[in-house]
Formats: sequence, C-alpha cells, structure tokens
Amino acid sequence: MCRKTTILIAFILTICTSDLMANKILSPGFQDTTRHYQPGKTYTFNVTAPSGEYALAIEYIAGDHKSKLILTSPHGGSLKPDFIRTRTNEYVVKAEDNGYGDTESFSAVSDSKTLELTQALAEEIKRTTGLRPHIILNHLHRSKLDANRAMSLAAQGDVNAEAAWKAFHAFIDDAKAQVLKNNEGLLFDIHGNAHRPQRTEIGLLLKGKDFKSNDLEQYADKSSVKAMVKSGKATMTELIKGDYAMGTLLSEKDILATPGKSVPNPVDEEFFPDGRYFNGGYNTARHGSKFSGNISAIQLEFNSDVRMDDKKRPEYVKSITKAINQFMAKYFK
Ligand SMILES: [Zn+2]
Repeated sequence: MCRKTTILIAFILTICTSDLMANKILSPGFQDTTRHYQPGKTYTFNVTAPSGEYALAIEYIAGDHKSKLILTSPHGGSLKPDFIRTRTNEYVVKAEDNGYGDTESFSAVSDSKTLELTQALAEEIKRTTGLRPHIILNHLHRSKLDANRAMSLAAQGDVNAEAAWKAFHAFIDDAKAQVLKNNEGLLFDIHGNAHRPQRTEIGLLLKGKDFKSNDLEQYADKSSVKAMVKSGKATMTELIKGDYAMGTLLSEKDILATPGKSVPNPVDEEFFPDGRYFNGGYNTARHGSKFSGNISAIQLEFNSDVRMDDKKRPEYVKSITKAINQFMAKYFK
C-alpha cells in the first residue's frame, strides 16, 4: 500500500472514530432505543473535565408506560463545576439557534427550588394516580447552563454545557416518543417567578396583549396547546379561562394563577400593576404542539410562596397535583 493511501485510510478511521465518540457524547444513553427505558429508573448524563473530574448534569427518571405526562425543570439546578464556562451577558448569540423564539433574555439566576418542586410533584402524581410521569431535570446552575434557551445562549460555546443541553433535550425527545405510544400527551415546563404581587403564571405562548381580544380562538395556531384545540379537546377560551383551565384549577386551591377564570388577563393592571407576565419560553415552543406533533406544552411559573419554604412546599405540592390530575383527567384520559 502506498504511503498516501495509508495516510488516507488513517484519516478516514480518525474521522469515523471521532464521529462515534461525538455520538456517544451527544446522545447519552440513547444508544438504547426508547423501549429500553424502565419506568422509575434514573438515567443520567455527566459533564467531565479533562482531568477526569465530573458532575451530574442531567437526570431523566422514566415514567410509566401509560403516563401521558412529562415534567421538566430546565434551570432550577445548583451545581457550578469550575470546568464549565460561567455564562455572561456579553456573549454574542448565534442567530441560527433561535428558531423557537428570540425574545428571551439572558439570566444567570436559577429558579430556586423548582427542581425540588418538580421531583415532589412527580412523586405525588405517582402516589395519587398510580402513574409516574416522566421527569427531566437540569442539575447545573443557570450560570453554567440555561436549558430553556436556544443552545448558543444556553451554553455559550462551552463543550460540556453544549453536551448537557443536547442531553436534556434528547431525554425529552425520548420521553415524548414513549408518551406518544399513548397517541397524545402534555409537558409542563416548571419555573419560578418573582413578580409582585405574587401570582403563578400559566404560559401558552400568547402575549399579554392577546388577552384583551374578544376572540381568543384566533391564537390557537401560535399556542403551545395547538394540538389540544385542533383535536377538539378544548377551545382556546376554555384553556385560558374555562372551568378546567390550569389557572382556574390552581386558583381554586388558593394558588392565585393567571390566566384563569378569576383573572383571565395576566397583564390586567387592576390586579398586577407591574405588567409583567412570562408567557412561555424555548421549551414550551420547541416541545409543545405549536410547530408540530400531538404533545402540547404549558409553562408553569410558580410564585415564591409556593416553592421556597421546604416546610410549606409539601402542602402546595398536594394542591398543584390535584390541579394537574384534574386537568389530565379532563383532557388526557
Ligand atoms: Zn424560569
């Protein structure tokens, strides 16, 4: 064999090997097909420094086969490995990342206790319905990875943060594939807000000004619950302020939530003069049904009283679980 051919073969082998390694890093665990996931079992993705030091970044606890529910906690983590770049407000975002909305701003402040809240909700839903939902958790602090942003803004070019971001969304995609064996499903993206006066905000991708309209049905196509409306499960109006809207169900349990029956407009100045409202972010757009598919998504932005106090949180978890169970029983039997 001539030297040139030998070099060429060596080059091709190097490319193939590095591709394989990249796949291994980029699709953690996911050498398995979805049928290998076992309900209740935990699957993890670690970030690793060149020195061998590592940290748990992403955790997926597989749900029961019959569950149609996925819960995600994208930026409630607390781990800050030194070997991951700390995110800054100065980073220049690549435009091509922004297919799911480009209105989200930079933040490095974690949504405190939302990871704990998500885990507790999953346990309580399992206890009360017998069905374990799928949960995907980002354990990294938001200053290292924000898993509710397009990758460029989320990971700011850090190789480990990018791999963890890909793992987070790959686990969600795998959970969705399992849920879809039941033909339909719902994802709640769990967050925390600090708006005053305190209220929980329900995000369906409608903007604050949209709620002033007398015709809410016109917004179905841009909402993250589009599949629920198109399949005839509910009208947009019902999902925003009907008896079984998430805001209505939570408010009935003394967790003031908007939009809902009591406050159908989340930017109603009479109730909330600050005019602030989180209407749903990257995950709600990407993993809901706005663009395609039969899995809808709703962003739940819990106020601090609901999530911060470790002693009070269990009672709130019971109330939120009742609301989620009612919603699922009504729309996802
Ligand atoms: Zn958040």
